Amino acid sequence: MWGHLDAKKLPEGYPQFFARGEGGHVWDVDGRRYVDLMCSWGPIVLGHHDPAVDAAARKQAEMGDCLNGPGPVLVELAERLVDRIPAADWAMFQKNGTDATTACVTIARAATGRSTILMARGSYHGAAPWCTPVPAGTTEADRAHQLRFEYNDVASLEAAAAAVGDDLAAILVTGFRHDNIVDQELPTPEFAQAARAICDRKGAALIVDDVRAGFRLHAGGSWETVGVRPDLSAWSKAIANGHTLAAVTGRDSLRDAATRIFVTGSFWCSSVAMAAAIATLEELERRDVVGHIAALGQRLRDGLAERARGANVGLRQSGPVSMPLFLFDGDTDFAIGRAFCQATLEEGAFLHPRHNMFLCAAHTEADIDAVLAASEAGFAAIKGLR
Ligand code: PMP
Repeated sequence: MWGHLDAKKLPEGYPQFFARGEGGHVWDVDGRRYVDLMCSWGPIVLGHHDPAVDAAARKQAEMGDCLNGPGPVLVELAERLVDRIPAADWAMFQKNGTDATTACVTIARAATGRSTILMARGSYHGAAPWCTPVPAGTTEADRAHQLRFEYNDVASLEAAAAAVGDDLAAILVTGFRHDNIVDQELPTPEFAQAARAICDRKGAALIVDDVRAGFRLHAGGSWETVGVRPDLSAWSKAIANGHTLAAVTGRDSLRDAATRIFVTGSFWCSSVAMAAAIATLEELERRDVVGHIAALGQRLRDGLAERARGANVGLRQSGPVSMPLFLFDGDTDFAIGRAFCQATLEEGAFLHPRHNMFLCAAHTEADIDAVLAASEAGFAAIKGLR
C-alpha cells in the first residue's frame, strides 16, 4: 500500500480494507463497525452515503458522467463557489488536491513571470515531485525556486520574502497549521495580514491551500476567520462529500493567467462529482455543518481532557475542535499514542495516533460519547507506559 493510507504505519489491528460506510460509521471487511473520526481523511463532511448527495450523483450518472466536455453542472458549480467564497471571482476544476495546489503555483508563476514560491516549513501540499515530503525519486530541480518560512512567524516570513528579492511569485500557505506530528495552530491575524501585505507590496499571489481545512472552519474559506482574502485557493477533500473533485478559485487579477496555462486531465470534467459537489454545498448551507462539527468537537475535546486529567496523563489537544489532533506529552516514539489508539479501536472508535482527525455532519452526541467511552480502554492501556 502506497502513501499515508498504509495500515502498517498504524498500530496492530487497524484494518487496511473497508467494506462500507454509513453516516458517521465505517465497517471493515471483517464486519467490524467503528465510529469514524477519520472521515476518509477529510472528504466525508456530511456523512458516508449522504442521501442528498447520493441522489444528485445518481441522477447525473443516469445522464452521463465523462463526456466530450463538461456538462452544465460545471457552470452551476463554479457560480455557487463564486457566490459562496468571498475571495473567488472564478473557478476551475481538477480531481485531487495535488492537482489544485500545482495549478495554483503554475498560475501564480504565469501571472508574475517569476519563479520563487515561499512555503511554510513542514506544510503538506500534496505528492507531486515539487511538494512530496519524501524526496525518493525526485530531483533537486523539482524543488528549485522554493524558500521556507515558519508558519505563524512574521519575522521568518519577512526574512524569507527579503531573501527572494524581486523573484517572488507566491506565498503558499495552508488554511491552518496542520503538519503531521506537531501541535496544530490556527493562523494568527498578524501572520495572515503580513502574508497579504508582502504579496501586495511585491505584486505576488497569496495562495491558501484549503484542501484539508476547506468547508470545515468557515463557509467562505479558512482565512475568512482572520479576515484575510487570498488571490488563489486550492480546494478538494470535502468539496463533494467523497466524490472525486478538486477546485482552484481565484481573484479577477489572476483570471488571465489561469486561462493561459495548460492543465487538464481525462476525468477533470466528469459531471457526477460536480453534481455531488453542488448537492454538498447546498447541504453544508442548509445544515450549519461548521457549527455542528464545532459543537461536537468541543464535546470530544472536553471529554478527553477530563479523562486525561483523571488518568494523570499529559494530553495535548490542538487546532480547531472540528479537526482534532491529540498528542501525548513525552511520547517521542508514539508508543503511548499507538497503544491508546489500538485499545480504543478495539472498543469501536477509529482514531489516528498522530494525524488530525475529522468530524462530519452525520456524527451525533451519542457517537462522541461512544468514542469517549471507548477511550477509557485507551487510557487504561497506557497506564503502565508512562
Ligand atoms: N494540500 C493539503 C493541505 C492536503 O491536506 C492534501 C491531502 N492530504 C493535499 C494538498 C493533497 O491532496 P490529494 O491527496 O488529494 O492530492
